[in-house]
Amino acid sequence: MALAPAAGLWERLSRWQQDQVQAAAKTELGRLAGLLQQPETAPRLLAGRLTDRLAETGGEALVSTRYGWLIRRGLVQRQACSDRRCDDGIRLDTGGECENCHNVIHLRRARRAKIAAEVDRELPGLSDHERRRILEDRLREQAALEAENLARRREQAAAEQARRDAARAAAQERAERERAAAAAAEAARQALPCQVCGRDQAAGLCELCDHRRQTETLISEAGLIAATWSADLTDPASVAAVTAAVRTAIGQSIVTAWQEVLQITDVAALEADPEAAEDAYAFAAFQTAQQSVQEHHDHALTMLGRTEEAEAEARRAYKPSRTAPGSSTTRTAQTSSRRRRRRPPTRPGSAPRSTCSRRGWSSYASGRRHAPGGLRPRCGRTGCRNSPPGPLTARQPGRWSREHKAARR
Ligand SMILES: [Zn+2]
Ligand SMILES: [Zn+2]
Repeated sequence: MALAPAAGLWERLSRWQQDQVQAAAKTELGRLAGLLQQPETAPRLLAGRLTDRLAETGGEALVSTRYGWLIRRGLVQRQACSDRRCDDGIRLDTGGECENCHNVIHLRRARRAKIAAEVDRELPGLSDHERRRILEDRLREQAALEAENLARRREQAAAEQARRDAARAAAQERAERERAAAAAAEAARQALPCQVCGRDQAAGLCELCDHRRQTETLISEAGLIAATWSADLTDPASVAAVTAAVRTAIGQSIVTAWQEVLQITDVAALEADPEAAEDAYAFAAFQTAQQSVQEHHDHALTMLGRTEEAEAEARRAYKPSRTAPGSSTTRTAQTSSRRRRRRPPTRPGSAPRSTCSRRGWSSYASGRRHAPGGLRPRCGRTGCRNSPPGPLTARQPGRWSREHKAARR
């Protein structure tokens, strides 16, 4: 469409010339699209330019070298002023007259008048012919000077643009290199085998070993928390007995939790994939231990927190024990709690009282232990022996903590 006005010239070009003209037209269209507010009007604008230039030449018949005319005259922008959107005094983006060209014409007229006044002042009494000659010479000099300035400014602008382009390209390249390096480092990290079991592609520690490790830490933590109120802290054997009891209780809770998992899982699928079964078991154990720590923490606070002050102490004792059992803060809290507590840990004498609401599970359970089907009411209260096993995310407390809760009452 853009080349349609010069169809007559186009037809008589050689194949190679047609390719060249087509490429030049394509480049110019791309450049125009970048300048225009509505890039889709670029072909129309280029067609208009070709029509104008042909009219200027006097029609296709007067074009002597078809290829040269198209490449050097028909298709190229003729910037009449310094505005790069100016084409023969018409603004490419708006289609209106170029304001800058108006200014340039105004400036040229003003300059001509100024130079004429200078000539009259410096060389009075010249003949009309001489005066015009000198005036034209000076105007030409002035124009050459301006053209030189303009060329220099364009050169500078082009150099500046090239510098910006190069900087952008370098930044892009650097960002890409960094991205690739980060991806490679991450891939290498992911590829590391587990340090504990040697499982491949485990990023240094596989999920199974991570869960096992965390479970072990949590069990130790729960034992220490229980010891803060139920053991004689001056007696290592007493502390060891409590931590061992907590470990056993959590171990039993884990067994129960695993049984619950098996009830809701496709056991055949687990048996077929021992690795997945190990993972699932480790996760169930981790969740159970996590919940036990929370329960021991809450319970220890209740036991120690008879007064605000004591509760604050208990918190201080609990916090360091999470990371550094036996740290100085823990020891201080242990010493002061020792002063308060003289009785040995209470052991349950009878089964715990249910904390179910009257209309909750226990009233239902008085008839049948489990509701048929998948819908089973849950009381959601701790210490309820009648409640059916809940999902892993909302597990009941272990036997040990149930006993202690009962002992508190
Ligand atoms: Zn202009
Ligand atoms: Zn591992």
